[in-house]
Amino acid sequence: MRSFPAPLRLRLDSDALVSNWQWLAGQGGAAACGAAVKADGYGLGAREVVRRLTAVGCRDFFVSNWHEAEHLEPLLEQGINLSVLHGVREEDMAYALMSRAMPVLCSPIQIERWKAAGRGECHLMVDTGMSRLGVDWRSDVATLVEGLSVDTLFSHLASADEDSPLNESQLERFAVIKNKVDARRYSLANSAGICLGRDYAFDLTRPGISLYGGIARERAAGHIRQVAFPQAQVLQCRRVVAGDTVGYNATFRAPADMDVAILNLGYADGYLRGFSGCGSVTVDGESLPLIGRVSMDLLAVDVTGQADICEGQWLDIDYDLPRAAAVSGLSQYELLTGLGNRFDRIWV
Ligand SMILES: *Cc1c(COP(=O)(O)O)cnc(C)c1O
Repeated sequence: MRSFPAPLRLRLDSDALVSNWQWLAGQGGAAACGAAVKADGYGLGAREVVRRLTAVGCRDFFVSNWHEAEHLEPLLEQGINLSVLHGVREEDMAYALMSRAMPVLCSPIQIERWKAAGRGECHLMVDTGMSRLGVDWRSDVATLVEGLSVDTLFSHLASADEDSPLNESQLERFAVIKNKVDARRYSLANSAGICLGRDYAFDLTRPGISLYGGIARERAAGHIRQVAFPQAQVLQCRRVVAGDTVGYNATFRAPADMDVAILNLGYADGYLRGFSGCGSVTVDGESLPLIGRVSMDLLAVDVTGQADICEGQWLDIDYDLPRAAAVSGLSQYELLTGLGNRFDRIWV
């Protein structure tokens, strides 16, 4: 915690996080449900997320790289699995060999590297049609992993948030690989994949965005709750007269006399310029529009008729992820992972 409060804060709802995980876990039926906590828990704070989800029974966490693993290792209780999705580079080996986290080996070179270090146990990523990380599903995967003991065999869906024929193709390819490679568990579905149905769940699901309030498919609407609520403090209130312009490049001109509040939030905090002219804040249930451009550290809100808004007051930024994505043109993922370090993150 900082020695005095920042002028912007992210209120984080523990109950909503837990409720989202429980709903996602339920959708997967008998499959275990993990949690992707890469990118510092999608910007919310990975440690806080891991603590809360461990407490309700989550046993599998996923990060991208070994620095992220190192950040979380002190928190890992007995029986908690931490997987590093990008596998192991040469530079990672010294750390990886003494870590409790396990790599998800992605390429033939990574597999050789792990074997050469005398290691057997690992996870494995097979690419079934995304052409991103993973061993090609058409290659002789069984021979590649000879000598290794594969704990969990992963693949990742490219278009699970759409009704694409690629989903079924990937499912079929994954089933083929499953028959060829012996592993303790098989794991295919991210948040959107969970919503495709139980066929996609296998032994372990890996939700990320929906834990944090993202709606990956329509089916999740009404079940997934918003977790992250940005708030910014009013630094100044001013009267603008008809004809005055507001903000950089004078993109907004007041059609009449107006009251304007200047808030301590801007694109350097991840509240990007895509919200210029379309973002809003809510005060007492009423939505008030942003006016002019979002600056690096500031933005302006039309508070005409809101007599009680004053300097020092905290305002709620509208940040329901599907809605904010629709108005700003940013993805739900970008809306969370861009939230910067100037926020005080406050779990309630
Ligand atoms: C990020 C990631 C996830 C989580 O995806 P969401 O779309 O956020 O649910 C799952 N698996 C892998 C391999 C990932 O990289």
